[in-house]
Amino acid sequence: MTPPRHHLPDVAEMYRAFLERDSRYDGIFLTGVTTTGIFCRPSCPARKPARENVRFFATAAAAEAGGFRACLRCRPLDPAGLPPEGIRRLVEACDANPALRLRDRDLRARGLDPATVRRWFRRHHGVTFHAWQRARRLGGAIAELGRGGGITGAAFGSGYDSLSGFTDALRKLTGRPPSASRDAVVVHVDRILTPLGPMVAGVLGEAVCLLEFTDRRMLPTQLRTLEDRLGCVFVPGETPASRKLALELDAWFDGDLQGFSTPIRMAGTPFQEAAWAELLRIPRGTTRSYAEQAAALGRPSAVRAVARANGANRIAIVVPCHRVVGSDGRLRGYGGGVARKRALLALEGWEAP
Ligand SMILES: [Zn+2]
Repeated sequence: MTPPRHHLPDVAEMYRAFLERDSRYDGIFLTGVTTTGIFCRPSCPARKPARENVRFFATAAAAEAGGFRACLRCRPLDPAGLPPEGIRRLVEACDANPALRLRDRDLRARGLDPATVRRWFRRHHGVTFHAWQRARRLGGAIAELGRGGGITGAAFGSGYDSLSGFTDALRKLTGRPPSASRDAVVVHVDRILTPLGPMVAGVLGEAVCLLEFTDRRMLPTQLRTLEDRLGCVFVPGETPASRKLALELDAWFDGDLQGFSTPIRMAGTPFQEAAWAELLRIPRGTTRSYAEQAAALGRPSAVRAVARANGANRIAIVVPCHRVVGSDGRLRGYGGGVARKRALLALEGWEAP
């Protein structure tokens, strides 16, 4: 992954983001601390030094060239959100054996501290490790039922040792008993790491219906809206579509991809879907104003509604709402933070007027 090419935000903005540990600036700049010789990403949990001891860099290479070493806490050479080695191996083990059911003592036997694992999953998946495992196993069971499998086989095949435990867990997730869970609509959610921070991707069948930065404040609302619109349940897990999207995002951040070919499912109101479809017509490297966007939709007076529809876009980057700017060329708002919008546009070669 190449870091985005862009100009640094102004120093006051960077120092504020650094003090506030604002993860929306991870991948935008790095800080070197002259008293320790260490460089960090903005979200680093370490104590923050005084302004006069801080230098700012656009890339890790520049920080290293300045004589700084990478911080061992925030690991600025790794993509933001990369799990530590032990957790990576744990996820791999769960991927390899979907029925695997690991308890705290199994984590300790693997040399992992259950509290650390719980914290990491809470922070990065919004649930504990045990809830994450359970949801994945239930997702596997729903798929098995959907393929016409029997309830008993689905229960034991997904690591449940009693039918009643399975029935309860499934009812909690889908609101239905196992027999009616066969046709539950499942959206698989997967994390995708990008140079601008981790994103969460949601996949329904073969189509992506969600792509958001994980630290976007609106994310829980977006998930609830999607739940209502699709009548779906969310289950963690990788899918062919999320793998394809991850590869496309990599190429896109490297500047090797003009547009995405992973199918998408927009799931909005008719007006939102029209507005989002119009966003897809803005070529990479160009921008439009909200007024131009409203005119293109044949609704020249609906500027505010267009801005709202942009803000409600749930498939960031792929549906390029970042390409709509104020009529004076100012960036205005962006769900993932204006710094990211600026970086995305800079990456596309666009320069602020
Ligand atoms: Zn650090």
